[in-house]
Amino acid sequence: MIVNVAIDGPAGAGKSSVAKAAAAKLGYIYVDTGALYRAVGLYALNNGIPTDDAASVSGCLKDIKVELKFSDEGQQVYLNGENVSAFIRTPEASMAASNVSAIPAVRSFLFDLQRNIAKENSCIMDGRDIGTVVLPDAAVKIFLTASPEIRAKRRYDELIAKGQSVEYKDVLDELIQRDYNDSHRQVAPLKPAQDSVILDNGELNLEESADRIIEIIEEKIG
Ligand code: C5P
Repeated sequence: MIVNVAIDGPAGAGKSSVAKAAAAKLGYIYVDTGALYRAVGLYALNNGIPTDDAASVSGCLKDIKVELKFSDEGQQVYLNGENVSAFIRTPEASMAASNVSAIPAVRSFLFDLQRNIAKENSCIMDGRDIGTVVLPDAAVKIFLTASPEIRAKRRYDELIAKGQSVEYKDVLDELIQRDYNDSHRQVAPLKPAQDSVILDNGELNLEESADRIIEIIEEKIG
């Protein structure tokens, strides 16, 4: 039996860490859909295409092939045959992803890829519209959130640990801007699905959040 779990929520809520841990425990694959939007954003950045110009971005989609591959190291994202997983986590790529993700043609371009993975694999898929649009029939839907300040602090610590030089204030501003863009766009805005469980993990660490997510999944699927 194939089980699909949708985890949505704003930037920095810890969706990927929590989903990864829960997927490992349950033996499901973990699908990070943000990486798809980041890959499209990266293509635009690398090719001098303004990421908020819907006509130009839509026009370049015919030149883009995005693929996800799953190995023991987890998900890898390929852009026109090149593994770009290491290049999509910068603040510029985050904002580019947020801009291109508001363009309807980009969302439909990436839709089938996400649906097909879920059709063929038990998975935990994280994103912004998984429970509302991509997998409306998912067995379990979770909306993971925390205050902007807590999420920005987590993101800041993560970037510093990776050796990037960033200011907390810039990370917070970028995150608030991205939340605004993601929840106010016309297509597939970020919002909890009506039948989702809302989990504020502001007071929980990674392990506690993952345990709570696993509990929610096990309660739902029996
Ligand atoms: O999850 P992550 O921060 O990597 O996502 C990057 C951006 O991609 C988000 O800010 C959002 O604009 C977009 N996104 C989306 N729908 C998804 C996943 C990500 O619009 N399912």
